[in-house]
Amino acid sequence: MPTDYSRPLLLAGTAGGSEPDSLRARIEASQVHISVDPTVPGSGTCLRVLVADLRRLPVQLSLDPGRGSKRLGDDLVDQVLRIAAGIDPQRSIRVGGAPPDAVHVQVGVDHAAADLTGVPDGHGTRIRRPGYPFPRLEHAGSGLGAVLTAAMLTGEIFKMVTALRPGTYRHIDTLNFCPVALFSSHHRAPEHLHVERLALVGAGAIGTAVALILSVLEATGDLTVIDRQIFESPNVITYSLGTDEDAGARLPKVDIVGTALQRMNIRRVHGTVDDFISHIDAGTMPLPHTVLGAVDNIAARHDLQRIYADLVLDGGTGGRAGTTVSLHEALPTGPCMRCYFPTNNATVTAEQRLHQATGLPLARIAQGDQALTEDDLRGLPRQGRRLLEQHLGKPVCGLGRVMNLTTVNGDNSYQPSAAFVAQQAASLMVGALIARAHNEDSNVRMRQIEYDTLYGPQLDMIDDRRPRSDCYCQTSQDVIRAVRNERLGAVEAYRL
Ligand SMILES: [Zn+2]
Repeated sequence: MPTDYSRPLLLAGTAGGSEPDSLRARIEASQVHISVDPTVPGSGTCLRVLVADLRRLPVQLSLDPGRGSKRLGDDLVDQVLRIAAGIDPQRSIRVGGAPPDAVHVQVGVDHAAADLTGVPDGHGTRIRRPGYPFPRLEHAGSGLGAVLTAAMLTGEIFKMVTALRPGTYRHIDTLNFCPVALFSSHHRAPEHLHVERLALVGAGAIGTAVALILSVLEATGDLTVIDRQIFESPNVITYSLGTDEDAGARLPKVDIVGTALQRMNIRRVHGTVDDFISHIDAGTMPLPHTVLGAVDNIAARHDLQRIYADLVLDGGTGGRAGTTVSLHEALPTGPCMRCYFPTNNATVTAEQRLHQATGLPLARIAQGDQALTEDDLRGLPRQGRRLLEQHLGKPVCGLGRVMNLTTVNGDNSYQPSAAFVAQQAASLMVGALIARAHNEDSNVRMRQIEYDTLYGPQLDMIDDRRPRSDCYCQTSQDVIRAVRNERLGAVEAYRL
């Protein structure tokens, strides 16, 4: 089966407003040349993730093998070629010098020859374009810094090879960003991450990106992974883990995550959050201290809150083109996930989904038995017209189902998605986890972060969040406390 690039192409098309066929041709004609300074700490990990992320776009890739003391080891080159082949066996990477018109991206700090250069610095990243020098690096690059650097570099390449409209994006000339300390200068967070009673809900695009980061951080401790779905062919391009072969084997997504985290003690729940809660209440699994939420809809976010863990770190991707990333930190005492996502918005109806995907007005969708006409398409966004054209003459009410916009197993099967976006959301989550792991009892403020990856992290993207006074977490504190006490009691029993 040919590799399915439809979701990153949908993301590019929605962001840029271009016709899918010409956009695909444009991206396929783009040449991207990668070079790396293997003497920089973290550069090997960064290279592996960068090649995988770029391979998830249908561009032409070449890799500079380096020379002299900066020649890449044969093992690393072999690994990189294997990673790329696991994503798209049909598109090989050329090892050699730069083709004349290629965009040249470099992992390192010497950016004389490259169009774009980036390097991990501790858990953070530094990105530069020509003319903007690098400062001296402060720390050896960590796995988190390496993944974030690869994701940011891919985001910049994405802007260069897709035809985005002016004013819908910003090129990053210079960026210094750490998802642990954010923009503040901060004492050094320890490099090693050890976690106890951590749960990851959702092993999709964001969940596999979290798992990738934990694996390259060489994190230790115990992690419960909850997901009910099977890894399938379209996931190869949008997820951070899992190969073409895994999709052929139809493995549960929890197994893809479990296999990647060999250093951790992994419990798998191939089921729902409710299945996980049943295990907690039965004392067969511990109440998590922290829940990493990697789900894609509001109802599922409310489910995360019902676990009543000490802390929820909820990561998300969304926005019109799926390029916005977010982090919401929630407590059982508030702000909780319901404070961030109030109940009246909890269910996105089939009508709303159709409206969001196509721009067809809700009032028109309400006249569901009337057939779709040319008139209806006039004035819609190009993407909406393209989606609806083939359904002219059909009644509007069944379109959501026909167009596969209804949820299947709780997963919205038609969303723009790209691994480099999910990895930036996952970096915010793991950054928050590290920040909190080493600030256990101080009054760390509750982070709410949101930025569009087409613009990059900005100073004003961080907000404090307080509980909503009419939220369940404020009006039902006694109930929540009782549930938590019960489940914490089960943790004690579990330990005995
Ligand atoms: Zn609340």
